[in-house]
Amino acid sequence: MLMDSKELRINIAKLLKKHFSQERISVHLKLALGEEGIYESPEGKNFIIALLLESAPDGIRVRGTVKGGIQMECARCLEPYEHQIDLSIDDFFCQPHLPLMTESGGLEGEVEISGEDSYLLEGDYIDLNDLLNDYLILALPMKRLCDSDCKGICPRCGTNLNVSSCECRDDYVDTRLEKLRQWLDREGV
Ligand SMILES: [Zn+2]
Ligand SMILES: [Zn+2]
Repeated sequence: MLMDSKELRINIAKLLKKHFSQERISVHLKLALGEEGIYESPEGKNFIIALLLESAPDGIRVRGTVKGGIQMECARCLEPYEHQIDLSIDDFFCQPHLPLMTESGGLEGEVEISGEDSYLLEGDYIDLNDLLNDYLILALPMKRLCDSDCKGICPRCGTNLNVSSCECRDDYVDTRLEKLRQWLDREGV
């Protein structure tokens, strides 16, 4: 289940009446993205979606910014942290049916645009949910770290090493390395 907010379905009847007219929209909402809403806005903080819609003869151009935090868990220390997203959007929604012109400029019929590689207008509405889902999923980090210098947790005692240190670090020996050391001793290397 991806983001599906009614507030992102916007009536554009007025924009469609006149080419190159513009409308600003600003939506503040709590983000819930991914299966069962695994990516969420932190408590009490909204995503801010500020876009300029502009009508063109063949559709609506959408430009603007999407900003906000997403609650995540650090892969090293397992503590929750807030990942900041700051996206620039510049995209286009096509009319599902475009008039097909003959070479002399006459109207020949209509072509149907497939919805696979472009966003489509739905009558007098533009639905920004799919567009925002596509942009946000690409903006999620591959490596989830609260900080690039996060020290993680001690594999022995579980202490969060960003917060405090523990005694087991110095005598912690990788068992594979220990076997190698014993072999080297035996061989007298
Ligand atoms: Zn961390
Ligand atoms: Zn420890």
